[in-house]
Amino acid sequence: MKGAILAQYKHGQFLTQSQHEAFDTLVSPGTTAANAGIYRCAVCGDEIGIAKGHTLPPQNHHQHAPGQGPIKWQLLVFAVQRK
Ligand SMILES: [Zn+2]
Repeated sequence: MKGAILAQYKHGQFLTQSQHEAFDTLVSPGTTAANAGIYRCAVCGDEIGIAKGHTLPPQNHHQHAPGQGPIKWQLLVFAVQRK
């Protein structure tokens, strides 16, 4: 089994922790991304970056081992854009 895949950053002063419910939502492949940012697959840890309003990658984006089930995208970091 591979080690955990974790997003990386250097300058932590530019990130802030949030309890926003958007981080708890598992989003199906092929769904429109409500937030711009980094999403990770809750099943295997694979990560992607996406723009707001773009479509999250489909089920064939990456392969899971048999029995792991389908891809579930979960928001990891979202980009805060100036209004
Ligand atoms: Zn996955």
